[in-house]
Amino acid sequence: MFKEATPEERRIYYREEWKPGDVPDFLAESIGYREFGFDHDGRGPRDRYNAFTSVEELEKFLRNRAPYSAYSSVSYYEKPGKREGYKKAELVFDIDAKDLPSFLKKCCKQGTICEKCLETAKQYILSLKDIFQGDFGVKKIYYIYSGRGFHMRILDPDVMEFTEVERAYILDYLSGSQALKGSAKVNRWLAPRGYTRIFKDRLLGILEDASVKDIQMIEGIGRTTAKEIIGNRDKIIGDITEWKNLEWSPDPKTGVVRTARFKALLSILKENKYDKFTDFVLKQNAGILDAKVTVDTKRILRLPSSLHSKVSLKCMLIPDIETFNPLSDAMPKFVSERKG
Ligand SMILES: [Zn+2]
Repeated sequence: MFKEATPEERRIYYREEWKPGDVPDFLAESIGYREFGFDHDGRGPRDRYNAFTSVEELEKFLRNRAPYSAYSSVSYYEKPGKREGYKKAELVFDIDAKDLPSFLKKCCKQGTICEKCLETAKQYILSLKDIFQGDFGVKKIYYIYSGRGFHMRILDPDVMEFTEVERAYILDYLSGSQALKGSAKVNRWLAPRGYTRIFKDRLLGILEDASVKDIQMIEGIGRTTAKEIIGNRDKIIGDITEWKNLEWSPDPKTGVVRTARFKALLSILKENKYDKFTDFVLKQNAGILDAKVTVDTKRILRLPSSLHSKVSLKCMLIPDIETFNPLSDAMPKFVSERKG
């Protein structure tokens, strides 16, 4: 599994399996505004500044060239072939299973993927989904299987107008890594409520899986403390899950509650170790979201419908994220027909 596609397999994929209808509508409708990039030899998308006026034109290119990888911009331009006349950009999140922080990726080496870390990446996308759909009421969200992870792409009109600075605020909010701030435009995203749910989910994820040794990886936490945390794990997890037994402390200046500490965990860790512990969670969290992808509007993302040749899986629009299974749903025909 996850074997690199040969040039012949790429040709078979683009001639026999790829269909114009596999390009998602949201992309087909805006194709004339997007810059396309291609990797022809596996060394990166060096063929940039391409533009197409229709899916048919893209089809011709893909069938002829059978690229190693294909990408399109998240931004819309007046002149996409020159990357000039920037209009607006999708808000995107990239959760790559191969780059998950080591604490969440005990299954396989950095840079590689397996079923388990793909599932971790999917769970993370589902937490993001909850936040964007449930809390922020965002409507036009698309989930893409990228080949080795997931993209979440948001195309709500007001969101697409966000500047890079505003995108950075959203990112900070999601990783729970800094004081709440923002412009009028993003304020509705930044409801003051202490820790974000994604922070809470990540904290739970870390506690549920951790061994004493894992906890000791956190700077300043020794074996005795780590053992005590694991010994009281059920109580701590219960408090976090039900959001109870908290010690609240509002920011003296703004009155906004930024820190809500779980008493059971606090009584074991005390003041300074508690902060080290939560800092660790924040760092893990920030490490999952690729900041560059979210903030930089000049980014190109792997084209849904294209082949991820390194692992021989399809990059594709996901019809139902809850039930999606990359290893069956994103497997091209030529892989199932491979011998041996
Ligand atoms: Zn893995």
